[in-house]
Amino acid sequence: MGLLAEGTPLSWEETIQYIDYIKRHGIAQFVNLYHKLKFRERSELKWGDEVEYTIVKFDDENKKVRVSCRASQLLKKLKSEEERNNSLGRPNKFLWTPEFGAYMIEGTPGSPYGGLLECFSHVEEDMKLRRKDIQRLLREDESILSMSFPSFGVRDFTSPPSKITPENRSFGSIFWPDEAICSSHLRFKNLLKNSVDRRGSKIFMNVPIFKDSNTPDPYVEDFSKFGDSQDYQDAKPDHIYLDHMGFGMGCCCLQVTFQTVNVGEARWLYDQLTPITPVLLALSAATPIFRSKLSEVDTRWGISSASCDDRTEEERGLKPLENEDFVIEKSRYDSTNCYIDPSSVAYNDIPLQYDENLYQTLIKGDIDEPMAKHIAHLFIRDPLQVYFERIEQDDAIDTEHFETIQSSNWMNMRFKPPPVDDPKIGWRVEFRPTEVQLTDFENAAYCCFIVLLTRVLIAFRTNYLIPISQVTENMKRAQIRDAVRSQKFFFRKNVMESEETNGKAESGPLNDAEIEEMTVDEIVNGKEDGFPGLMSFIRKYLDSADLEVETLSTINQYLELISKRASGEIPTLAHWMRDFVMDHPNYKHDSEVSDEIVYDLLKKMDSISNGEEHCEKLLGPFHPKSLSDL
Ligand code: ADP
Ligand code: MG
Ligand code: MG
Repeated sequence: MGLLAEGTPLSWEETIQYIDYIKRHGIAQFVNLYHKLKFRERSELKWGDEVEYTIVKFDDENKKVRVSCRASQLLKKLKSEEERNNSLGRPNKFLWTPEFGAYMIEGTPGSPYGGLLECFSHVEEDMKLRRKDIQRLLREDESILSMSFPSFGVRDFTSPPSKITPENRSFGSIFWPDEAICSSHLRFKNLLKNSVDRRGSKIFMNVPIFKDSNTPDPYVEDFSKFGDSQDYQDAKPDHIYLDHMGFGMGCCCLQVTFQTVNVGEARWLYDQLTPITPVLLALSAATPIFRSKLSEVDTRWGISSASCDDRTEEERGLKPLENEDFVIEKSRYDSTNCYIDPSSVAYNDIPLQYDENLYQTLIKGDIDEPMAKHIAHLFIRDPLQVYFERIEQDDAIDTEHFETIQSSNWMNMRFKPPPVDDPKIGWRVEFRPTEVQLTDFENAAYCCFIVLLTRVLIAFRTNYLIPISQVTENMKRAQIRDAVRSQKFFFRKNVMESEETNGKAESGPLNDAEIEEMTVDEIVNGKEDGFPGLMSFIRKYLDSADLEVETLSTINQYLELISKRASGEIPTLAHWMRDFVMDHPNYKHDSEVSDEIVYDLLKKMDSISNGEEHCEKLLGPFHPKSLSDL
C-alpha cells in the first residue's frame, strides 16, 4: 500500500507544522527527479502483479471461519529467508510485504516478468507456487484465500478472538478491534490515526443493503448494545453501517504495474487505460457481502474510498470554508481527476483544485502544464506518514517527501516515476481497480487481459479517451450489484485514429454522438454494426504475434474466461457468492449471512482455490492446471 519506511512516525498534531515544508520539498524532489530521468528509456516491457491474500482459520466443530491474525509471524519467517537469499546472492522467487490487516499478506513475483508473451506460460504457475510458499507455513486449520473476508466487524471475527469494549475501541469503532490491524509495521496504525485526526471525526460508511423478501423494511439495526447513540450516530436505515478503515483497506485486490519505453509512453498509457478501469472493476467484482450482510454493491471500491477519507468537514462541503483552501469532491482513494498526457487535455472536464504556489513552482521548474496540474492536484492531500528522522532531506537525491504524498493518493491508476537509485527500472504505470479473484487461474487471466490491452494500445495506437467526468460516473456504475449485466458505461464508439490525425490522439473534445453507453459485453466482445470490442483488437494483435502453440492455447483460455464473464455466461465471483448464499438451505432471505453460511461458503471457495474441486459454474469449462501439470 505504498511507502514502508522505518523511523519514528509523527502524530497528526506533530505533522501539522511540517506540512508546508514537506509539500515544498516534495515538489522540488519531483522537479529534480523528472529532469534527471526524463530521458530514461527502457525498451523491454516488464510487468508484475501484486496479489493480496487473507489468512483464515476454520473451526470445523463450531462451523465458523475467522481471519487468522498471524501475518506478522509468517512475514518474519519469509523476510528472514529473503534476507538470507540476498546475503547469498540468490534471487528471491517471491517478495512478501505486510498489508493493512493483521491477517493480510501481499505477494509479488521476485522480479518482474519479461516482455514476451511467452511469460503467460508460467504466470499462473508462479502464482500457484507463491501461494504454496505461504501454505507451507500455515497450521492445519488455516488457509490462504485471495479474497476479501465477508464477515469483518462480526463479533469475534478474528483469531485469536479480540474483545471490543468501550475502553478498547479502535478509533471509536464499535466493530473493529485494534488486533485486526497489522502491528508489524507502524505505518498502518499511524496512517489510520493520522487520517482520523486530520478528518476530525470517526471514519464511517453506509453501504446500501440488498433487500430480500424477508429483509425488514425499513432495515434498521439496533446498535444499543454497542454503546450510547453517539457511537453509531452516522448509521442510516436500509444500509450496512461500517465504521473503520479496516472495512476498506482490509479488503484484498489485484494490481498490475507495467514498465513503458519512456515517460511519454507512460503518460499516454496512463490516460488510455483510465477509461478501461471501470470495465475491469465491473468484470472482477468479488465483494458482495459486508459485515455478513448481502449488499447492493459488488465491489470493495467505494468502501475503500470512504475508509480512507481524511477530508475535514469543510473539505467535504459540510461547513463553510474557514480554515481550508478548498472543497474537495473525492476521497484520496478514488478515481483520477485528470489525464496527464498533453494530447489528452481536451478531455479534462473536472475542475482541479491545487495550490497556486506549488503549481507555479512546478511550472517554473519547467514541468509542462498537464503534468504540473496532476502533481499539484495530488499535493492537495497532506502527508499522513512523516518520520521524524527523515524530515531533512537532500532534494537533489531523495524523493521520500514526493513519494509519501504520491503513494497515499490511492487512485484507479498511478503514474510511477523510476526510482532514482535503481537504473534497471523505467517509467511505469500501475493499473489498480481490479478485485482479486479466487483462483490463480483467474488472476493470471485478468493479468493477461490487462497486459494484452496495453500491447494492443501501443501496437494500434487506439484511442479510448472520453471526458474524465464520465470515467468517474462509470466507476460509480461499476460497483453496483451485477454491473456486468445491469449497467451501461460511457465508451468511445470509434477508437481507431482517423487518417487525418495521423496516429496522434485527436485534440478536440468529442461530441456526444461519438460516445455511447455500452454494456461490458459490448465493450469487451463487441457489438454488431458498432464497436468491435476490445477482444477483437487483442485477437488481431495475437494473430500478428508469432506465439508457441502452448502459450497461445493458455492465453486463449484466459481470454475466453474474460469474454464469458463479460457476456454474463460465467458469473463474476460476486454473483457466484450471492447465488451460493441464496441457495443455502439455512439462508432466511433476510440479507443476513450467518456464521454457518460463511463457513460453508469459504470451505467451498477454499476447495475451489486449492484445485480440490472443479466449479464449472464459476470457472466455466476451464480446468485450471495443477502444479504437477504445469
Ligand atoms: P507498489 O505498487 O506498492 O509501489 P512495487 O512498485 O514495489 O509496488 O511493485 C509492483 C509490481 O511492479 C510488482 O509486481 C513488481 O514485480 C513490479 N515491477 C518491479 N519492477 C518493475 C519494472 N521495472 N517494470 C514493471 N514492473 C515492475
Ligand atoms: Mg497492497
Ligand atoms: Mg501497488
